[in-house]
Amino acid sequence: MPHSVSPANSGTPDQVQDDMVVEPQPQAENGETQNTASPEIPVVVNTEPENGSTQGDEVADQDMAMEDVGVQGEKVLESAVKEESKSEVKLEDLFADVESDEEFPSSAALNVKPSSPPEAPSSPVHVGPASKPSDSDVMRSFYQRLFPWRHLFQWLNHSPTPSTDFGHREFAFTLQNDAYLRYQSFPTSDLFDSLRKDVLRLMPSRFEIGPVYTTNPRDRKTLRKSSAFKPLAKEICFDIDLTDYDDIRTCCDKANICNKCWQFITMAVKVIDVALRDDFGFKHILWVYSGRRGAHAWVCDKKARFLDDQKRRAIAGYLEVIKGGAQSGKRVNVKRPLHPHVARSLEVLKSHFQTDILHDQDPWETDEKFDRLLQLLPDKALNEALRKKWSSAPGRASTSKWADIDALAKSGASKTLDAKALLEAKQDIVLEYTYPRLDIEVSKHLNHLLKSPFVVHPGTGRVCVPINTKDLESFDPLEVPTVTELLGEIDEWTPEGEKEGKAVQDWEKTSLKPYVEYLRSFVVALMKDEKDVKVKREREENTADAMEF
Ligand SMILES: [Zn+2]
Repeated sequence: MPHSVSPANSGTPDQVQDDMVVEPQPQAENGETQNTASPEIPVVVNTEPENGSTQGDEVADQDMAMEDVGVQGEKVLESAVKEESKSEVKLEDLFADVESDEEFPSSAALNVKPSSPPEAPSSPVHVGPASKPSDSDVMRSFYQRLFPWRHLFQWLNHSPTPSTDFGHREFAFTLQNDAYLRYQSFPTSDLFDSLRKDVLRLMPSRFEIGPVYTTNPRDRKTLRKSSAFKPLAKEICFDIDLTDYDDIRTCCDKANICNKCWQFITMAVKVIDVALRDDFGFKHILWVYSGRRGAHAWVCDKKARFLDDQKRRAIAGYLEVIKGGAQSGKRVNVKRPLHPHVARSLEVLKSHFQTDILHDQDPWETDEKFDRLLQLLPDKALNEALRKKWSSAPGRASTSKWADIDALAKSGASKTLDAKALLEAKQDIVLEYTYPRLDIEVSKHLNHLLKSPFVVHPGTGRVCVPINTKDLESFDPLEVPTVTELLGEIDEWTPEGEKEGKAVQDWEKTSLKPYVEYLRSFVVALMKDEKDVKVKREREENTADAMEF
């Protein structure tokens, strides 16, 4: 099927260069490249991996046509994950501890009470109005009492039983002094508790999650052949940030956001989520608020995790419709007839364009601003008529201006008007103002690191909570709890109507509860699919063994 946004279209020399960047630096929330170690701290910072996942031959392959993604991608995906099989293992047995409210399943070994982890202070944390999210007492309390360690472990491990999915996973810590520690890993003998302990010891301002490697990342230097250390698997991630909308958002700028401009993120989640599900067949997509003005998607399906960089680039290319920066000319160049993904996106975005763009953002209010609109319209004579009308009515609302285009076109303002060209230009404008603006570099590489869900954004103090897409419209980033609010809620909590003998976790006492519960249900569904695949594979192996005799 022809596609108007195939990677072939984007294979400019510049982008080929970009693709050769082996190790994309993790991006800070504000888009700045993450600082490396500060000089006074003797921290070894690896910015170069010992091996590159991106080789010259992959660059040569980057002209892979879009059609290949659907077909070839699906094939690879299918072979990785066949149809779900009915398992004979009882789910309840396998996930017995999933539903347990005990945050620390290894507590038998640790000998701690469920509701009070080893380092938890016995007295309440006193968080006053002067407490800042970045205070180390505040952060320590958060990581000790609220961070959903067990669910994070199960999410990355894909099973309640320890595996290399977690043990060979890279974590990277950004310390308070901005030192950046890569290749941290947590072998599974003591489950996720070693990750938790290291976080409490180092108190990073944030930590990121990278790929699963062929071996324990901490052992990479001891390998005889450095090529034996390779990234194997990672979720495909997508990053949408409101800074990329600054040329069209009029309500806020820089780090500020409000509910009006958050709608850009809502639109983006809708368009990307449906494409990932319907066009690529992915099921386990975790959307996470980035803590300030954006959202990340983690596509966690097994078939997504094992895709190589070439296929990641192809998927990213498939979803990329807006190209170039704010200074570029026309940023949308889609072919006709519209690719089904673009046509579907337009359907989703149409009503948002009327309310969230024309009404709320009012992007063409002034003379200077409506010039941008005229630049995107194809007919000279019609443009002149529009300019005349709008210049004589200063401040005419964008909703009216948009309606004027068709009204003047119908009135015969231009003798040479090409109605089809006008319609297509208007579709392109809707896309330019509403279609998701992806930071595509995040999606292209298997070994890209991305901030973990549930860490605290150091600037806002807000927790990077998951976004329930079933309730997407009601997600309000300004209502997301901050770390200091949450710690206050623990102190204020009083037991009432509590079930006898049931320990209440600290997170259950706070407004973090729905988000932790959402992660838990997400993880349970993911583990169920992984288990079904595993059971099927084992059964096939057993059958194969049996056939040999
Ligand atoms: Zn705003």
